[in-house]
Amino acid sequence: MNRCPCGTQLSYENCCQPLHDGKAIAQSPAQLMRSRYCAFVKQQSAYIYLTHSPETRHSVSVESINEWNSQCDWCGLQLVTSTNDTLLHQVEFIAWYQQAGKLNYHHELSQFLNEPLDDAFAKHLQEPKDKNNEKVWYYASATYPDRKIALPKRNDECICNSGQKFKKCCG
Ligand SMILES: [Zn+2]
Ligand SMILES: [Zn+2]
Repeated sequence: MNRCPCGTQLSYENCCQPLHDGKAIAQSPAQLMRSRYCAFVKQQSAYIYLTHSPETRHSVSVESINEWNSQCDWCGLQLVTSTNDTLLHQVEFIAWYQQAGKLNYHHELSQFLNEPLDDAFAKHLQEPKDKNNEKVWYYASATYPDRKIALPKRNDECICNSGQKFKKCCG
């Protein structure tokens, strides 16, 4: 079985695909974060766009997402911490990618909001939802921790969660 690129033990079909296809919605900030990373891998730009909070969605476009995505070869996702309580809905993660043959990472602390379903995202869903009662998770904003992340060593476990050594896998 091929595991979902987002780093769970599940297959893509049982993990992020139902979200990308509009058959399910993310139940937590962490699940939304994983599915958004996975959408980069699977080139589901519309999903990345639509899961942006409606208030800040104007700051991105499907084209800009495609543009950035075409320059990166995604290797793996590591969730560092995730908090989902009454005040804070945030996920800190490291997304590894290769660019021009070099391993690099994107380290981000993302903020999420649980908000009423908006029209554009509602259209993406296969089953109509009652917009007045439905709240969904949206990606709201990001900050970038300036802590330096060590690149994996040759004998470390690979950043793609394959369980293999880095040198034998993505290294
Ligand atoms: Zn997944
Ligand atoms: Zn690997």
